[in-house]
Amino acid sequence: MRRISVFGATGSIGGNTLDLIGRDPGAYRVVALTGGRNVARLAELARLHRAEIAVTANEDCLDDLRDRLSGSGIEAAAGQGALVDAARRPADWIMSAIVGAAGLAPGMAALEQGTTLALANKESLVCAGPLLLATARRHGATILPVDSEHSAVFQALIGEDVGAVERVIITASGGAFRDWPLERLARATPEQAACHPNWSMGQRITIDSASMFNKALELIETHEFFGIAPEKIEPLIHPESMIHAMVGFVDGALMAHVGPPDMRHAIGFALNWPHRQALPVERLDFAALGQFTFAAPDEIRYPALRLAREVMQAGGLAGAVFNGAKERALDAFIAGRIGFTDMAVVVEGVLTKMSADRLMNDTIALDTVAAADHLARRRTDEIIVARH
Ligand code: NDP
Repeated sequence: MRRISVFGATGSIGGNTLDLIGRDPGAYRVVALTGGRNVARLAELARLHRAEIAVTANEDCLDDLRDRLSGSGIEAAAGQGALVDAARRPADWIMSAIVGAAGLAPGMAALEQGTTLALANKESLVCAGPLLLATARRHGATILPVDSEHSAVFQALIGEDVGAVERVIITASGGAFRDWPLERLARATPEQAACHPNWSMGQRITIDSASMFNKALELIETHEFFGIAPEKIEPLIHPESMIHAMVGFVDGALMAHVGPPDMRHAIGFALNWPHRQALPVERLDFAALGQFTFAAPDEIRYPALRLAREVMQAGGLAGAVFNGAKERALDAFIAGRIGFTDMAVVVEGVLTKMSADRLMNDTIALDTVAAADHLARRRTDEIIVARH
């Protein structure tokens, strides 16, 4: 039986992962499941999948979790340290699906045990890509990308020479406001931004899809994970979300990965890798689909894409600053403190303000990434206060 753990089990990716695992319960033993505030769901999942331990990130939720697990024999724990301890429990396959930079430390701990890490938590690659990859190499661990675009690139590169890659096209639906007039964007509400036209995902990534901060993170993720130069990575609007990515080679060949917008494909690919097994995803009927459409992204509408290029060019801790500022600006948008279009303005302000900071010359390590993240969030708050 394969031992598996799911970090971020109560979320959208976590739920899809457990859906696949639950279809073949005899094949897996669930070690750790983790969540945040949704303790009822965490306890329910832990009982259903007979986990060894359930961990909530929030210490004030521990009593509730213990109550809900009482009599089950399942251990309960809480806090950041407990998440890292859970990631150290021996497991053959670990899903990293916590949202945000909070996923980095458990992901690192998982890699240190030399396991296979299915990485949905793109923020950890954006904040600390070189550190994650070096840690995986040092401990003989494997990282498999779970973002649909990066799973697509990974699959297109099997058996290929990365040196022969001419370009990587990362597709984007364009999010909730793709067809809105530009002047309406400033008044967009969090509820409107949290309605994705094609994908069913967590609230934060859905809003990030509307602003294209999600795509910005993915461009950086492509650069960090596959080592592709920034100028070879092209975002492309593809409203149908059927082609997840395309890889172009020096001989002009273009390999596209096509499938329905269902994360269980990318998750299942990572779960079964290096083999392919049947997955419960829709099979496409191209004749019924009729056509796919494409458009170049408009960088006035989506300034996050330009910022992503600047972050890739800067390298070092710029990714951690970008992500920290983005997360904080998103918090402020969700709380109604800033408008939709303010997010990019604020993040750009933080990047500019911190570009000359001595901290930016530090090497990438867990403590320097945490310091850059912390300072970026503080600067974001300062800029938001100054704007009002
Ligand atoms: P959700 O918001 O649905 O779930 C997030 C998970 O993280 C929940 O289990 C949540 O717990 C937990 N969590 C939240 N804050 C913390 C914290 N500070 N510490 C520890 N755990 C925390 O997100 P998604 O499943 O949509 O996304 C998860 C990751 O996967 C993100 O990095 C996202 O970018 C990436 N991803 C998601 C895709 C999707 O289709 N959803 C596609 C590709 C990538 P609780 O809810 O209990 O508070």
